[in-house]
Formats: sequence, structure tokens, C-alpha cells
Amino acid sequence: MSWKLAVLGVVVCAMTALVVRLALGGSDQTKSGTTEIVRVRETETRAPAEPIRVSPPSSASDSGAEKARSRPPVTRKPRPRLSLAGKTISVDPGHNGGNFTHIEEIDRPVPAGANGTTKPCNTTGTETNDGSLTEAQFNWDVAQDLVPRLEHLGATVVLTRDSNDGVGPCVNERAEIANHAHADVALSIHADGNLAVGAHGFDVIHPSTAEMVAPQQAGPSLKLAEAERDALVGAGIPPANYVGQDGLDERSDLAGLNLAEVPAVLVELGNMRDEGEAAKLEDPAYRHDLADALAAGIVSFLHGS
Ligand SMILES: [Zn+2]
Repeated sequence: MSWKLAVLGVVVCAMTALVVRLALGGSDQTKSGTTEIVRVRETETRAPAEPIRVSPPSSASDSGAEKARSRPPVTRKPRPRLSLAGKTISVDPGHNGGNFTHIEEIDRPVPAGANGTTKPCNTTGTETNDGSLTEAQFNWDVAQDLVPRLEHLGATVVLTRDSNDGVGPCVNERAEIANHAHADVALSIHADGNLAVGAHGFDVIHPSTAEMVAPQQAGPSLKLAEAERDALVGAGIPPANYVGQDGLDERSDLAGLNLAEVPAVLVELGNMRDEGEAAKLEDPAYRHDLADALAAGIVSFLHGS
């Protein structure tokens, strides 16, 4: 009996050892399985999180940086400085649509300077080579763009003519309108008609003292001319390559400037006889840019910057 008991004891011990090993192995497998699941979960949760976290915050910070870089130029134009409240601007769209059919009337001589010189009351102005746009119409269109801009900034605007269908007024009367209004700025809008090949670009004409009835306005008129020139150049409008210098031209033969008792300039906004420039001047978007620049120049002049 005792050997049977001994055999049974050995068998029981072996089975116990097997159960214990199985139990331990199962435990290891469970641990290993759990670890694997955790690892998979970590991988699963990390994988989609990374592109979401990295990409958007990175691009958000990039666009934030771009905004930070592009913001200053926009905010460098503080609104309060743009105000023209209390200011009076005389806007003179050169010539008039009815001048073409009233040559005799506009041809009569009128006072044109301080020393008894005279000039014709007015002229027809130029036009594009194909005749599709007259200077009188162009001047009127730019003025129509400019006036609401100035009024929006608080200015009182005095126009020297109220349509493009009339005749005149004479150049001396246009100066008188600005003087009578005690305008802070007198701006005469024109376009040129130069036949030289390739002649294009704007120029801002300011008066020399030679014929001025108010020579003390020569300095302020030059500053106004520089402000308008700078604004036009800043808007990408090319300065003239055939007249004046750097977009400025001093003259003593323009009645509207000679007779002005306020800061006054005459802008030739482009050469209508140049095919390329004529196409631009016929483009409403280009005229909007011109009006924007003219308004900006007036603001700059009146705020001394
Ligand atoms: Zn003109």
C-alpha cells in the first residue's frame, strides 16, 4: 500500500505543479495581453490625435503670425487722422461737355494772372485717339468718385460745375469759386493730350510765384502737390515720363492756379493720347484708384504728414 501511496503522491505533486505553471503562464499571458491592448489603444489614440494637434495649431500659429505681420500696415492708418471735418475742398473737373459746341463762348479772353495776362475762358480739353472718352467726361467721372470720398471723411465739397452737359465756367471763375469758399484745398482735375510716342504718366502742376495773385500760397501749393504726388505714386500710378520731374511740374501759365488765394494744384492724371494709358483711364477701377489717391493726398496735406 505504501508504494501505491507514494505513486499517488508523485502524480498529485506533478499535477499541482502543472496547474501552478498553467496558472502562472495564464497570468503572464493575461498581463502580456493587457499590455498589448493598452499599447494598441495608446497607438490608436495617439495616431489621429497627432495630425489634428500638430497640423491645425501649427497652421493656426502660422496664420496668426501672418496676421501679426500684415496687421501693422493696416492699422498704421488711424481713422481719426483721416477726418476732414471742418475742411472745405474745391474740386474742379476741368473743361465741360458743352464746350465742344460753344467754341466762341469759351474762347473769349479772361484774366489769367497777377500781371494783366489773359487766357481763353475755357477749352474743350483733349480726348482719347478713338474719341470714345473726352477729357471733360473723364475729369467729371473722377470728380464724381472723389466727392463722396471727401464728404465721407467729413469735408464740405464745392464743385466748380454741376454736370458734364454745361459750358464753362471760365478758368478765372473756377478760381473765384475756391476763393469765395475759403477752400482749404483747390484741386483741379485734368488729363493730358500729348502726342509724343510713349508719353504717359501723371504730373501734379503747382504755381510759381511769377503770376500768382497770392504768392504766399506757392509754398503750401507745392506741399499739396508733393502730397498728391506721393499718394499717386503710392497707389502705383506712374509719374509722367515726358513732362515735369518726379511727377511735379511748376508753371506760371495756368489761370486757375495763378488766381487762387488758397493752396491749389492741377493734376494731369494721365495721357489720353497714349493707347495704353487711355485704356487705363477708361477703366472705372483705375479711376477709383485715382480718386482714392487724390483723397489720400488731400488728407495727408491737411494733416501735415
Ligand atoms: Zn485739361
